[in-house]
Amino acid sequence: ASGIAVNSLGHCHPKLVNALNRQSRMLWHVSNLYLIKKQEQFASLLCKNSFADKVFFTNSGTESIECGIKIIRGYHSHYKTGKNQIISFNGAFHGRTFGALSAQKNKKYSNGYGPLLSGFKQVEFNNIEKLKKAINKKTAGIIIEPIQGEGGIRPADIKYLRFIRKICNERGILLFLDEVQCGFGRSGKLYSYEWAKIKPDIMAIAKGIGSGFPLGACLSTNKASISMTKGSHGSTYGGNPLAMSVGLEVLKIIS
Ligand SMILES: *Cc1c(COP(=O)(O)O)cnc(C)c1O
Repeated sequence: ASGIAVNSLGHCHPKLVNALNRQSRMLWHVSNLYLIKKQEQFASLLCKNSFADKVFFTNSGTESIECGIKIIRGYHSHYKTGKNQIISFNGAFHGRTFGALSAQKNKKYSNGYGPLLSGFKQVEFNNIEKLKKAINKKTAGIIIEPIQGEGGIRPADIKYLRFIRKICNERGILLFLDEVQCGFGRSGKLYSYEWAKIKPDIMAIAKGIGSGFPLGACLSTNKASISMTKGSHGSTYGGNPLAMSVGLEVLKIIS
């Protein structure tokens, strides 16, 4: 189980131990008001190895999901499209914060904590007809795990993913992939969307990206993240030097 898809390089990989030790003697924390060199290096390497133009660093999967939800809402608000509804799928798991809970609508995780947020609609996984029916002029984004993790290692059909990409293009909807569990080499490719030869607009990653060090990221295209300007979103610890040293090393090894 590798710590639920976290220990992507096992425990105490010598190169990661080295990177963390080296950084721990230099600098642990500096505010994101300042330039953090390793953050830029890591972000460029993530972009070079994916569809993305931009990276926002977080400390967990669920924070990366919240960032992506904001990117979707902010995009449609910027262009005044009137769209704000997000479609997700049964069996999904996106994390434990309210945006994530509201998207996955799974009573096992949300019972007793209602009301959940509005603006989320859930559709049967891998069913093209039901998805077609669920999409309307308010649909702003679709969030999906290319391979559902907690839902039972259920892969989305390649043709289903391609259909979603196509309908998102046609209807001005942003495609948001949750690769927190199925990304970072877990599927045999760096990201599982590569199997379908599609590209998302936004993607949440975490777990295997830090191989055990708390680290997450939300990746996006320049186009999708139009509303994410200086000060629109933030994190105190996201992108801290310790996490960046480890993440950079993990990506170098895995990619
Ligand atoms: C684990 C997981 C999350 C949440 O990650 P945390 O780091 O626990 O917040 C989100 N999405 C998927 C697919 C996951 O497997």
